[in-house]
Amino acid sequence: MEFVILKSFTNYVDAHIILGRMKDEGIDCWLKNENTTTIMPIWTTALGGIQLMVAADQQKKATYILNTIEEERRKQISCPRCNSQNVEYINTMRKPVNWLSAGVSFLLGDYAVMPEQRYHCFSCGNEWEEKEVIE
Ligand SMILES: [Zn+2]
Repeated sequence: MEFVILKSFTNYVDAHIILGRMKDEGIDCWLKNENTTTIMPIWTTALGGIQLMVAADQQKKATYILNTIEEERRKQISCPRCNSQNVEYINTMRKPVNWLSAGVSFLLGDYAVMPEQRYHCFSCGNEWEEKEVIE
């Protein structure tokens, strides 16, 4: 059977939540890079994250389910400052601010270019990071 990448995750917990939902809906799916990224989280980005693979002939249905899940999540989140629910989960690339931080990030590895996931509030412009999920 042929499989295609539906979505990439940098977060192991997220990947498993979505995988569980897909399986509940009867989607033939699995996670690629899962073992590598659990042992060596720093490799997650280098390998393109944990990739959710779905059967090619179920891609359309899987995309629909994914959209539904993401829509549900948006509804559950509200801005901690103004309590608006007009918020979006976004990915930004953390960039070095100047040559000094660029040098520091070089010494510390490529931490500075790791994707940063945060919420943005369209009502007041507030941005905040998701709470760390502790396993
Ligand atoms: Zn707000």
